[in-house]
Amino acid sequence: MRELPEINHCISNRHAYWCAKCYVHSQFYLESERDGTPRYLCRKCGFRMFLPGEVVPWMNGLLFGTLLLGGVGIFLLPHELETYWQWSPVCLAFAGFFGLIGGMMWFYVRKYFKWSLRQKLKSSNKLEKEADDHACSQYYEVSEDFDKWALQFLNEDQLLKLHDRFDRPQQAPNEFSSDSLELPPRNS
Ligand SMILES: [Zn+2]
Repeated sequence: MRELPEINHCISNRHAYWCAKCYVHSQFYLESERDGTPRYLCRKCGFRMFLPGEVVPWMNGLLFGTLLLGGVGIFLLPHELETYWQWSPVCLAFAGFFGLIGGMMWFYVRKYFKWSLRQKLKSSNKLEKEADDHACSQYYEVSEDFDKWALQFLNEDQLLKLHDRFDRPQQAPNEFSSDSLELPPRNS
């Protein structure tokens, strides 16, 4: 039994950050880019994680832009060979740029979709067992990053209950293994 049976990080969830190296919604830690944009990095491997539900619309937009600008660029090219103002190279350059970013997104999103499909075909028992045995084991900690991660799968009440369970482990001693818990020293 894993430390956090409330959460199964092996069930695909478009609204939870996913690691394309570990193939799971692994726990993350946050870092900030220079401009303050948060980066979600996998705790297990350090790879930058992404939110499938957020990336897919961007990817579709970029790939659509690639097709549109590429088409316009190719259409204009023969008409602009002898004109002073040439828009086709600009269109083709942007199409290439959008295509590069959109293609990179597609590379990772495709991995997610394949994984998600495989997970959806598994029984809930199998998914539970997979979560128990996964190399990216889930563990409890008191931190903002943990709360952010857990709130992808739980609502506020469920998260509070989870914290309560770890805050008062003596009330439910048989429900989970206490090996990995750090209990406060008992002075009295
Ligand atoms: Zn990872």
